[in-house]
Amino acid sequence: MPDQALPTVFESAMRGLACRCPRCGKGKLYGGFLNLRPKCESCGLDFAFIDSGDGPAIFIIMIAGAIVVACALIVEVKYQPPFWLHAVLWLPLILATTLLPLRAMKSLLIALQYHHKAAPGRLIDRDPE
Ligand SMILES: [Zn+2]
Repeated sequence: MPDQALPTVFESAMRGLACRCPRCGKGKLYGGFLNLRPKCESCGLDFAFIDSGDGPAIFIIMIAGAIVVACALIVEVKYQPPFWLHAVLWLPLILATTLLPLRAMKSLLIALQYHHKAAPGRLIDRDPE
């Protein structure tokens, strides 16, 4: 789509958070929970370039870990509940803070990868002297 202007970083991020195509912002990115469609149904962008790797999981682990550990420490210091109550309290919080934002975080990183044209590094062929 050469006639379409490049989106700003904010527009790309919003497309990512909405789990939409990073180029047109209309087509859906996912075919399953975390499985990507082969290409955009709206503009035809091939999603084969996408390689988010472990990035989304790392961000989610760091953010969710800080939230859950802080909550567990506060509750332990203030109330000293039995351990079973900790399990009852923090297991749902762990699931909520990891699974709910995972799709949006993955598509956000995909949108930023597309926006910044990020790709694996390549060696440059140089003529031997
Ligand atoms: Zn598209």
